Amino acid sequence: MQTITTIQQLRNALDPVRRVGRSIGLVPTMGYLHEGHARLVTTARAQNDEVVVSIFVNPLQFGPNEDFAQYPRDLHHDEQLLASLGCDIVFAPSVDEIYPEPAVTLVDLPAMSQVLCGRTRPIHFRGVATVVSKLLHIVQPDKAYFGQKDGQQLAIIRRMVQDLNFPVKIVGVPTVREPDGLAKSSRNIYLSQLERSHATVLYRALQAAVADVAAGQISAAMVIAKMAALISAEPEVRLDYAEVVNAQTLQPMDMLSGSIMMAVAAYVGKTRLIDNVLLELPPLDSQNVP
Ligand code: AMP
Repeated sequence: MQTITTIQQLRNALDPVRRVGRSIGLVPTMGYLHEGHARLVTTARAQNDEVVVSIFVNPLQFGPNEDFAQYPRDLHHDEQLLASLGCDIVFAPSVDEIYPEPAVTLVDLPAMSQVLCGRTRPIHFRGVATVVSKLLHIVQPDKAYFGQKDGQQLAIIRRMVQDLNFPVKIVGVPTVREPDGLAKSSRNIYLSQLERSHATVLYRALQAAVADVAAGQISAAMVIAKMAALISAEPEVRLDYAEVVNAQTLQPMDMLSGSIMMAVAAYVGKTRLIDNVLLELPPLDSQNVP
């Protein structure tokens, strides 16, 4: 495995790979890797000849009062983990390498970037879409891997790639969780022991919603109210949102049908956590709506 820090070196390494027809898988990350990231890498490893993992904490996707400077970083640990997973190339560029000048060209999907997490993080998904566009152009992978954990991000990337005709297949990977259901996240290290014990309420609320829908509930408002009540009642936890949206378009719905994403966000202490589940429901006309 080699670690590369410049775009030119990366192109020099990948051009011959591409020329002989070997497939390339890209896993974009911000580093401080855990088992969630590892699942993306092992999935990419199984499906490609060459696996590239990028590690880049992207300033463009952090708001002025967010944790860009404090975001945890440990390149040495990440390299050891990635070597053990069979990664071929770690691409770890500096901010100057990716943004030698302030970005003037931005990629935005306002209808999808201003909903859910976009309401509290208005510039976040524009930053994500812009840096992922750059990474896809730099690496030119056959496949790129993203976690369902960041469900809004995955839906946005899928739509961006479709709208802008990127020649890449986007692969979504299921969320990796702790044994008690908490979604693994680099931000979980911010949680105190007490906060950590309350943080499971996000997953518990989603599971309660899944159970209600399985029992026949098709009113989005009822499902949302249940999730919001459970999260709001938890000590140390402040609800940001509980929503049910179309999984592809991220638009809200009244009656649940088709592909839906149930998504929650909450502050546990000062740490903002997110989680979601996908459900596939029959179309409305096949349900017994009075
Ligand atoms: P990040 O480093 O937080 O930007 O995450 C990099 C990639 O790993 C994104 O596609 C995330 O959705 C994915 N990821 C993060 N946590 C998990 C998890 N618990 N399970 C699956 N994928 C994850």
